[in-house]
Amino acid sequence: MTNATSIKSAAGLVDRFGRSVDYIRLSVTDRCDFRCVYCMTEKMQFLPRNQILSLEELYVIASTFVGLGVKKIRLTGGEPLVRSNIMSLIERLGKLSGLEELLLTTNGAQLNKYAQPLRDAGVNRVNISIDSLDSERFKRISRVGELESVLAGIDAALEAGFDRIKLNSVIMRGYNEDEVLALTDYALSKNIDIAFIEEMPLGEASDHAREETTCSNAWVRGVIEQKYKLEDVEEKTAGPSRYVKVEQYGGSRIGFISPVTHNFCEDCNRVRITVEGRLLLCLGNEHSVDLRRILRSQKFTDASLREAIISAMDLKPERHYFYDRSRPQPVRLMNMTGG
Ligand code: SAM
Ligand code: SF4
Repeated sequence: MTNATSIKSAAGLVDRFGRSVDYIRLSVTDRCDFRCVYCMTEKMQFLPRNQILSLEELYVIASTFVGLGVKKIRLTGGEPLVRSNIMSLIERLGKLSGLEELLLTTNGAQLNKYAQPLRDAGVNRVNISIDSLDSERFKRISRVGELESVLAGIDAALEAGFDRIKLNSVIMRGYNEDEVLALTDYALSKNIDIAFIEEMPLGEASDHAREETTCSNAWVRGVIEQKYKLEDVEEKTAGPSRYVKVEQYGGSRIGFISPVTHNFCEDCNRVRITVEGRLLLCLGNEHSVDLRRILRSQKFTDASLREAIISAMDLKPERHYFYDRSRPQPVRLMNMTGG
């Protein structure tokens, strides 16, 4: 290891703009049992198995990042719970010393079965995506999902006793913009958080033109304010969400994740690893390093992986520019990116 490298790794992972990276999102599969209209096209082609990181490779990457100061790992995909034998990876990650939080984002369809094993394995928090409370509408948006299985999954997560449960909802004009209040009320009634995420132009959607469906979070907030008085939550959550509370409901927080209308890049503390092993430095850009090539090289050593990760921080771009036609836009769909 060079002197410069050892100084950098002792300070943790820091990019050219002085941002510390202590959070990774690890995509464990590109596959899913849903086909949400904003995330996937109707006829998806998934990666051949040999291009996907093995569970062992995922573990090596995760533990190397933790050795470099990463404190928080979110497992995502695709749908993490469709990856076969995923619990064996989660159980190992749950025991990683130095890791403070192990999180999971899921569509919830299989949480009825997995919530308790996940909690027992050390998962601290879960995010569950839900975009409608109407069965037919839910099926239209997810193309194949059953609302009832997700509602049962949310209840199972509540019983399992996670530190926090958050619902994620993407509000789209023409699909579910009239459900902002119903989704908010549902979260409040369960005493859990909800975050509204603006639809991002990641890859081409096959059922709609994204510029016509994207709802700004300023609009979503306005709808909620017609019914509730909102108070800003001062506590700083490292990351892109801005949270409020409803005066008469102390427990739940309402988050607004606004990557399209509000640039939050100055606070960015995260990088993503796609299931092909691409270390992606920014959701809205293509800057990346091929960690799979390093892992599968004859000359692989732990140090070679560590050094590749440390020097990759210099590639992290300052910000993304969604819908700026003068700049290249991402062609990756979200299931490839790791949400
Ligand atoms: N399958 C899991 C789920 O749905 O929660 C995890 C992966 S999914 C890609 C992660 C999150 O990304 C979900 O909350 C989903 O709503 C969100 N998402 C997918 N495509 C998106 C897009 N184009 N814009 C904004 N959010 C998107
Ligand atoms: Fe699957 Fe999640 Fe994408 Fe929906 S958002 S298709 S559940 S990966």
